Amino acid sequence: MANNSADGIRWDLADLFSSHEDPRIEGTLNDCHTRAQAFSARLRFSMEHPETLTADSLLDALKELEIIYEALGRVGSYAGLLYAADTANPDYQNLEQRVEQRSTELRNLLLFFEIQWLKADDTIANRLIGDPALKTYSHYLESLRRFRPHTLTEPEEKILNEKDNTGRNAFGRLFSEMTSSLTFALDKDGKQQDLNLSQVLSLLHEPNRTLRQRAMETLYAGLSQHGQVLTFIYDTLIQDHLTMDNLRHYPDPMVQRHLFNEIDGAAVDTMMQATESNYGLGRDYFKLKARLLGLPGLALYDQYAPVGQEGRPFSYQQAEQVILQAFEAFTPTFREIASEFFAKHWIDAEVRKGKRGGAFCASPSPRLHPYILCNYTDNLRDVMTVAHELGHGLHGCLSRKQSYFNYDTPLTTAETASVFGEMLVFDYLAEHQTDPQVQIAMLAGKLEDVFATVFRQNVLTRFEQAAFAARKERRLTPEQLGALWVEANGKYYGDAVEMPEGYRWGWSYIPHFIHSRFYCYSYVFGQLLVLALYRTYREEGKSFVPKYLALLEAGGSDSPEALLRPLGVDIHDPNFWQKGFEEIRGLVKRLDDLIGKA
Ligand SMILES: [Zn+2]
Repeated sequence: MANNSADGIRWDLADLFSSHEDPRIEGTLNDCHTRAQAFSARLRFSMEHPETLTADSLLDALKELEIIYEALGRVGSYAGLLYAADTANPDYQNLEQRVEQRSTELRNLLLFFEIQWLKADDTIANRLIGDPALKTYSHYLESLRRFRPHTLTEPEEKILNEKDNTGRNAFGRLFSEMTSSLTFALDKDGKQQDLNLSQVLSLLHEPNRTLRQRAMETLYAGLSQHGQVLTFIYDTLIQDHLTMDNLRHYPDPMVQRHLFNEIDGAAVDTMMQATESNYGLGRDYFKLKARLLGLPGLALYDQYAPVGQEGRPFSYQQAEQVILQAFEAFTPTFREIASEFFAKHWIDAEVRKGKRGGAFCASPSPRLHPYILCNYTDNLRDVMTVAHELGHGLHGCLSRKQSYFNYDTPLTTAETASVFGEMLVFDYLAEHQTDPQVQIAMLAGKLEDVFATVFRQNVLTRFEQAAFAARKERRLTPEQLGALWVEANGKYYGDAVEMPEGYRWGWSYIPHFIHSRFYCYSYVFGQLLVLALYRTYREEGKSFVPKYLALLEAGGSDSPEALLRPLGVDIHDPNFWQKGFEEIRGLVKRLDDLIGKA
């Protein structure tokens, strides 16, 4: 492996345990088990007869549960982190599996608590939720109960769980196995090559236009060969979803997702409509891009063609400097916290054989500091990855004043700090960059990222809505799904991007449609929220900083809507979402000016 600047940058996990053979691992697991059994013996009767529950006994129970979950989290994180850093090590594989098994046993012992809490009738539950003694847990207790009207009896839930393995989960596995084993034959570099799905998709970023075009044609021709099965899988999963909605009394296919996200449907509708009415911004950019590429118009396979010039390489040490400076310009608190990650070896950045790909930040619990894994290869994209993960890291550190049950945020706000961190570093770099060609590449890259998370995910969600509506009438055909897909995309691309004929298969390989339906709008929410917050920051300046810090410190102690209100965010107001689009408009304008000068 070629040398690069992150060689030797490994994390130090000694704050968790000393090694995979540390006897404290087994000791912690045993202790958790004893505590969980005692908890069950002590609490089962009163949970089954909630009228006997007092606020004090419930408070004690929650505190004890937090202690057990924290301890379990420490072991689980240690095993997970060891394994991620060296997946081929049999000792680590073993530990990871053993801990997972023990955790499942433990969680099963404790499961009765949540189930019985859901069963308690409203008068009793509301009396406890409203009791001042339980104030810090009121959001947690209340939010658990949001699934109450949609939960079936214990034996019914059990049967569904078991039958899902050969039902919808099996269709999901069929989809995964099928799409990951697909091969696409393509002439590349003068040789016939068999490429997999992600290899073909990555060719859409190639500078060579004919290659991009052939890659796209090959992709859709390949998918169309499996069209009947891919349609059957999706059709079945939609029908399964509709059946379950009926049994669980969900009025609309998106409602369950909204509950998970702790967001109400009206706010999502407002956001999606605002997004749709700003599709024109995307088309403005595509017309600019056609000019940059010297083309009369853009075809779909030109969407991710590189423009401008990639900058000089970035060493890991330079990344550290740039990120710390960009964070400090926002607030010295950010620099202070982020410096700890570098100084105390909480980051594993080196590229190694056997190490997990990609990047993540693990923030297991408020009693532990987060750890970051990435694979740093000396380019700008990786600087942004470190900035992203450190954003999560700041969130994980600042919210450590919360207790375990108030620590995590739902999906809708989980990416706020990370994307905001990226914005800070992006702006800092763009400002300090003098070569206009590099600036063009940076801005275009940023815009394309933003469009992929805002406009494209909105298109995806509109397609899902249309497919679900159509399935209520009759079984879906490939022709119908293709037509709905082209219609949803046409509203976005309009006259700015030409869609090739094969694109009607574009829906067929998207894993979210299969594994986590209606997930995609969360990306729109997260990205627009950050753009709007960033704009507010630039309008308000320093007075914005303490409010933003308070948001991160609050962790998951309340619903996203309530936590965002002090920052002037009203997710039901179209004008709020419009702020995000004004920020995008500013970026497009910056690019336009640069091209004029270049
Ligand atoms: Zn993230």
